[in-house]
Amino acid sequence: MIAAKGYAAPAPKEKLGHWDFERREVGPHDVQFDIHYCGVCHSDLHQVNNDWFPGIFPMVPGHEIVGKVVAVGSEVKNFKVGDLAGVGCLVDSCRTCENCKKDLEQYCLNGNVGTYNSKDKQGNPTYGGYSNTIVVDEAFVLHVSDKLPLAAVAPLLCAGITTYSPLRHWKVGKGHKLAVLGLGGLGHMAVKFGVAFGAEVTVLSTSPRKEEDAKKLGAHKFVVTTDKEQVAAVKGYFDFILDTVSAEHDLNMYLGMLATDGTHICVGAPSEPSPVRAFSLLGGRKSLAGSGIGGIAETQEMLDFCAENNIVSEIEMIDIKDIQTAYDRMLKGDVRYRFVIDIATL
Ligand SMILES: [Zn+2]
Ligand SMILES: [Zn+2]
Repeated sequence: MIAAKGYAAPAPKEKLGHWDFERREVGPHDVQFDIHYCGVCHSDLHQVNNDWFPGIFPMVPGHEIVGKVVAVGSEVKNFKVGDLAGVGCLVDSCRTCENCKKDLEQYCLNGNVGTYNSKDKQGNPTYGGYSNTIVVDEAFVLHVSDKLPLAAVAPLLCAGITTYSPLRHWKVGKGHKLAVLGLGGLGHMAVKFGVAFGAEVTVLSTSPRKEEDAKKLGAHKFVVTTDKEQVAAVKGYFDFILDTVSAEHDLNMYLGMLATDGTHICVGAPSEPSPVRAFSLLGGRKSLAGSGIGGIAETQEMLDFCAENNIVSEIEMIDIKDIQTAYDRMLKGDVRYRFVIDIATL
């Protein structure tokens, strides 16, 4: 086994601290890379708090992982020692079901293996990127361009692909009016991609103080959703709403902003169910949809697109010892726009 050190939550809702553990030996198809940076995703906090399902503890969160390859197995074809590498939310899947065969490993019918808080095919718990090194099958390791600042690439592995994938799936681009609901880690990436794809992008936010930032990120318009007049002005306006909000919110109000045949796409995951009135949908043949991260091939496509178009996340670098403060600030929406842990501080 390979000795690893990490930062773990010992039990649900408890503070994270140093924890020594082991990674598996590098198998014939495995890549081992030393982690340089790991993004802090809202779902890390949800899982540490057991918000979605009972977790596996101790838990080493983190699924926005980038670093440099230090070992490869004998059968590995696409990576060599010294390459930059990344891992997102998945480290394995069944690879044989209909969805896996279509490069949709995120929807694996037999249950994929999450990067942390999951069990691998041998039944061992997986541990994420708040750690110094990781061993992953090369089929789930991404190539990272050296053209982009590495720390700012990390959030692309979850926040990036989570917003890129639905915009590509629904072919959002020129001639479309896209609303991005929420300007956080996911939302700010959605703005960048929406603009890059040629859509007219409007940010919908409860806080007027985010307008200046939204415009800086490239958004064309800004609507304060607590302002009745501004909300009335965009009734029936948008072709798509990309909903990145993980807190409770009234879907019916936003469905009213969709044009006929418009689609509201949920990518955030509030802990509680959100009631929807049928009238919110049938008056205008509207669709309520969802999208979860993206497959491995599409994640590589997204990283390549970002390298070509010079797109990265806006980040605030933190020391690992400040993770609790980062969680508190993330809950208050006080982050521009993604915390990234400098793993050298571990
Ligand atoms: Zn995430
Ligand atoms: Zn599968």
